[in-house]
Amino acid sequence: MKIKLSEKASKIATSMTLAIDSKLKQMIAEGVKVYGFGVGEPDFDTPEYIRNAAIVGLNKGLTRYTPAQGTIELRKAICAKLKRENSLDYEPNQIIVSSGAKHSLSNTFAAILNPGDEVIVPVPYWVSYTEIIKLNDGIPVLVPTKKENNFKITKEELKNAITSRTKAILINSPSNPTGAVYTERELRDVAEVAVENNLFVVSDEIYERIIYDDNKHISIASFGSEIKDLTILINGMSKSYAMTGWRLGYAAGNEKLVKAMSSIQSHAVSHPSSITQYASAAALNGPQDDLRKMVQEFNKRRNYMYERINFMEGLSCIKPEGAFYVYVDISAYLGRNLCGIKLGSSLDFAQIMLEKGCVAVVPGGAFGTDGFIRLSYATSMETIKNGLDKFESFIKENIE
Ligand code: PMP
Ligand code: GLU
Repeated sequence: MKIKLSEKASKIATSMTLAIDSKLKQMIAEGVKVYGFGVGEPDFDTPEYIRNAAIVGLNKGLTRYTPAQGTIELRKAICAKLKRENSLDYEPNQIIVSSGAKHSLSNTFAAILNPGDEVIVPVPYWVSYTEIIKLNDGIPVLVPTKKENNFKITKEELKNAITSRTKAILINSPSNPTGAVYTERELRDVAEVAVENNLFVVSDEIYERIIYDDNKHISIASFGSEIKDLTILINGMSKSYAMTGWRLGYAAGNEKLVKAMSSIQSHAVSHPSSITQYASAAALNGPQDDLRKMVQEFNKRRNYMYERINFMEGLSCIKPEGAFYVYVDISAYLGRNLCGIKLGSSLDFAQIMLEKGCVAVVPGGAFGTDGFIRLSYATSMETIKNGLDKFESFIKENIE
């Protein structure tokens, strides 16, 4: 039988981060020793008090449908968190919880985009943004940023990208894949442009608490009522609470928009798991010590990785200010041969590195900049040390 897929489906690429992770898991299952710097997920267990809360929830019999928008208890816990940590006042009717921040983004774009509407996406960008926008009939407008600006979009670059079809600007701080954090001044610039042009700002703040040195996370929504009304703040439990598999993300925004997102969600998945919601409320309301320990550990790994990468011949990266990735410039190697194969792209590099070098990295092409690869340091120090030894010696021995 000839399978005829929709045009939409045929235009969507599989998530490269998840594809590399599947390949890595398959190699491990086959008994191969592989070092994983691919997918970005904390290697820590979900803190015990959160796991215990899930058991309590189960035993309480919370196994039935919840409101599509999420339980009132969880939405109140999110409001309290946004007030406590971000100085933001939201009411529960301005919050919707979904099955991961990815799903929150998907609901957002489904609620704001008409066919042909443009969304400004600074490059490099997290791999799923462009595909989620396309899935929702939008056009991602890719705006290159400069390494000397730490890959952050400037006011001028932003203004120049606006057309009559622009509907939204996407900002991700701290950034995946670069680790860059926008300063207050830079965010105020974005806010000014958004308000002047009446554009939504989709602000992906999922790494907000994984931040180093004196860098501060500021939510763009905190600059006043006008920008707050235009902002859709995206966050979730995956990174800060090591809860990737639980699937819980949330969005905060204008009540009318949140209502539309809730209607969309009610027909797609109804709501995220009732037990996950119960445990997430406990996570947000509970002690935050585990997070502090996690960030301290990430910081050690970041410093080590940053030093080592910049010491390797032909490689360099900016010092990440947040998140858990280093974005490595490999352009000096493109066009050369690795294991006798000409490196035409970062994908070639990543493929050879995984299949022959047994080190998993994500090609920069998946983030819109081909001369780079991304390495996640959300893995043990031992893996980082041994994996980087392997990475370095593999290049040395096989590059021509
Ligand atoms: N935004 C960014 C920038 C990410 O790196 C990720 C990856 N987890 C997500 C959103 C989605 O996270 P999740 O769906 O696990 O909440
Ligand atoms: N966001 C993480 C990453 O970039 C997890 C995988 C994914 O959802 O893409 O690796």
